[in-house]
Amino acid sequence: MRLLEGKNIIVTGASRGIGNGIANKLAEQGANIAFTYLSSELEAKKLESNIKDKGVKCIGYKSDASDFDSANKLISSVLEDFGSIDVLINNAGITRDNLILRMKEDDWNNVIKINLNSVFNLTKSVLGFMLKNRSGSIINISSVVGLKGNAGQSNYAASKSGIIGFSKSIALEVGSRNIRCNVVAPGFIETEMTDSLSDKYVDEWKQKIPLKRLGTTNDIANTVLFLSSDLSSYITGQVIPVCGGMLT
Ligand code: NAP
Repeated sequence: MRLLEGKNIIVTGASRGIGNGIANKLAEQGANIAFTYLSSELEAKKLESNIKDKGVKCIGYKSDASDFDSANKLISSVLEDFGSIDVLINNAGITRDNLILRMKEDDWNNVIKINLNSVFNLTKSVLGFMLKNRSGSIINISSVVGLKGNAGQSNYAASKSGIIGFSKSIALEVGSRNIRCNVVAPGFIETEMTDSLSDKYVDEWKQKIPLKRLGTTNDIANTVLFLSSDLSSYITGQVIPVCGGMLT
């Protein structure tokens, strides 16, 4: 028996990177997947067809997670198309790095809007259904940077710390209705988000990681699988760093 047989799961920002890895992994465990993307049409079509090949239902929705009305519309469409929602994974995110004195106001506002407002938008929208259904798991993708900060990423760190405070509060608000809310805090993961960094910078980071390697999207997807499944049914309000021991 697969761990997520018949569950309906939303993953935001799954056209590339970590979200893509999560969507594939959960589908392999029997989940039907509703995923979102913003601009990567071709990648989204490819993901939709790959996942359908695994014998589960899959629909990709072009939807801006940072826009409140779009998030509401998305949840209504998914409920219409799938009938119910068991798990929400808030993964969509961006970086606009710079030292604070050089950071433009737009870089601050866009990162907060896409990384943090999106989590509010989707969580608020999905809870209407989950509260009635008295069941659900919400998994928010933060970062180790949200726990320890990082020079040149004050906007990103603020958004990712915000996700942690938000998630713990939601866990306290809705636990009595059998709805869980947890956070995964990835370390340095190989994706397009990290591709642009120089080899020298990446090698220096590897030396600081006890497991001496960057993480993979599969490392994150395995943790999200655990939090999506009933194996984690007594876990809520927690932050799980998946970082090769970087925070140790
Ligand atoms: P990525 O490769 O850049 O992919 C980002 C995904 O988010 C894409 O599918 C993109 O869709 C989507 N997206 C961006 N803005 C969106 C919006 N407004 N609405 C809907 N979707 C949107 O990033 P990643 O490395 O996989 O990161 C995924 C998450 O993990 C992010 O929250 C990131 O902060 C977090 N994280 C990553 C690392 C790392 O080392 N990579 C470490 C810690 C945390 P389109 O392509 O269609 O625009």
